[in-house]
Amino acid sequence: MNRPLLFLDVDGPLNPYAAKPERRPDGYTTLRVPRNDAHEDDRGLSSRRRPLRVWLNPEHGRTLLRLGFELCWATTWMDDANRWIAPVLGLPELPFVDFGDVLLRERPDGVHWKTGPLVDYAGGRPFAWVDDEQSELDQTYVTAHHEGPGLLHHVNPRIGLRENDFRALADFARSLNTSRTTG
Ligand SMILES: [Mg+2]
Repeated sequence: MNRPLLFLDVDGPLNPYAAKPERRPDGYTTLRVPRNDAHEDDRGLSSRRRPLRVWLNPEHGRTLLRLGFELCWATTWMDDANRWIAPVLGLPELPFVDFGDVLLRERPDGVHWKTGPLVDYAGGRPFAWVDDEQSELDQTYVTAHHEGPGLLHHVNPRIGLRENDFRALADFARSLNTSRTTG
């Protein structure tokens, strides 16, 4: 059976980066990732920059794998998510959306820079997209440009993914199954 795609953002949903910095949320572990930006190396800054702190909940991998989706990274980490994030969560290596030139490039129409590439990647296949940065404009874009069902699920970056988020995602995946077998 062809499962829907689940586009996964890292910073916000999986890493609640905006939570109170002095208190790591329960169930989370701390990962420190060296910042290795070549441009900064040129200016000799990287050695002075502290590693990036990432909070991850090792339970989340197993939960995500049970939701009924095919998982796909949709994050500025791109392939680095497989190196740094997946092992902590207990996820296998996943496909990722390569944002190429549009990475972090703001659009004049206010649509998120990820939205177009995600719709293109899905190619009409049903998907859910978990992120902390979508807006109404992205929903409008998806409705206009994506033929299949598309769920934009917003997660608060102070909180990260919770039980009710997983339930909403699983319900969406299940609803697609139901409509396919009865319709
Ligand atoms: Mg994010």
